[in-house]
Amino acid sequence: MAAIRLDGKVVSAAAVERLKAQVAALPFVPKLVFVRVGEDPASAYYVRSKGRMAGRVGMLSETHLLPVTTTQGELESLILALNDDDEVDGILVQLPLPAGLDPQAVLDLIDPDKDVDGLHPVNVGRLWTGRPALAPATPRGLLALLDHYAVAIEGRHVVIVGRSNLVGRPAAALFQHRNATVTMAHSRTRDLAEVTRQGDILVAAVGRARVITPSMVKPGAAVLDVGMTREESGIVGDVDPRVEEVAGHLTPMPGGTGLMTVAMVIDTTVEAARRRRGSG
Ligand code: NAP
Repeated sequence: MAAIRLDGKVVSAAAVERLKAQVAALPFVPKLVFVRVGEDPASAYYVRSKGRMAGRVGMLSETHLLPVTTTQGELESLILALNDDDEVDGILVQLPLPAGLDPQAVLDLIDPDKDVDGLHPVNVGRLWTGRPALAPATPRGLLALLDHYAVAIEGRHVVIVGRSNLVGRPAAALFQHRNATVTMAHSRTRDLAEVTRQGDILVAAVGRARVITPSMVKPGAAVLDVGMTREESGIVGDVDPRVEEVAGHLTPMPGGTGLMTVAMVIDTTVEAARRRRGSG
């Protein structure tokens, strides 16, 4: 059996078309602002791809590139100015920040209604209590992939390996809202394979190359590979490619969840803009 590919290229391209139409119908142009501190090449790459997709859907975007010597106070002043700028709909602080800067303090300062990464405690609380929230893009992308390929979520057992604030935890909330039964596994889970084999849907968000092997996967399961490890050969996922022989559906790496993250950041910004400016 070869798994059906959950193709991030196809689904993100469909999202771009939908977003283009939505943005064109708005009485304003949404604006997304990126804040980068220092010259981290991976951050530069992610910001470029999000900026490009913002442009493709007709949205404005702008990057504030601050020197590595920026102080906490200077960074916080910029966030406050962006909060006050009525033209700005989304603020995205690219992590990691250079050593010496406190990322949580910066994230906590972002206006929750412009927090398009969904990391502000207000949005985390809204998400977990089932209220309208700006939710992190990566887990939103997982659900969008499953929905596009009509993989059922309700009533199914979703096993998520990884419990970060960015991926695992918000994924658990979103899957529960869709009436899945969710198990979260992590580095202290005993007999990980026994747990992962129960998943009708298995999410791997660990950051260790090929940690999910074929014997850890329930035959026919939908497997979503979030982890990204840079090796000499390129980017490698958490899922061993041989899982393709066991799984029913599988995201490619690259070309799967990463592309969806970019599309969902843009989607969240449109949503934030509409709510804040009162257009639906
Ligand atoms: P993180 O904060 O480092 O969290 C990793 C999680 O994996 C932790 O909960 C950790 O458990 C768990 N873990 C570590 N080793 C494990 C093991 N051997 N068995 C089971 N669980 C284990 O990372 P993150 O921010 O969630 O990112 C995870 C990966 O996804 C990274 O490779 C990152 O680059 C990638 N990523 C991809 C996208 C995308 O768009 N595809 C977006 C964001 C991140 P403990 O909690 O017990 O430490």
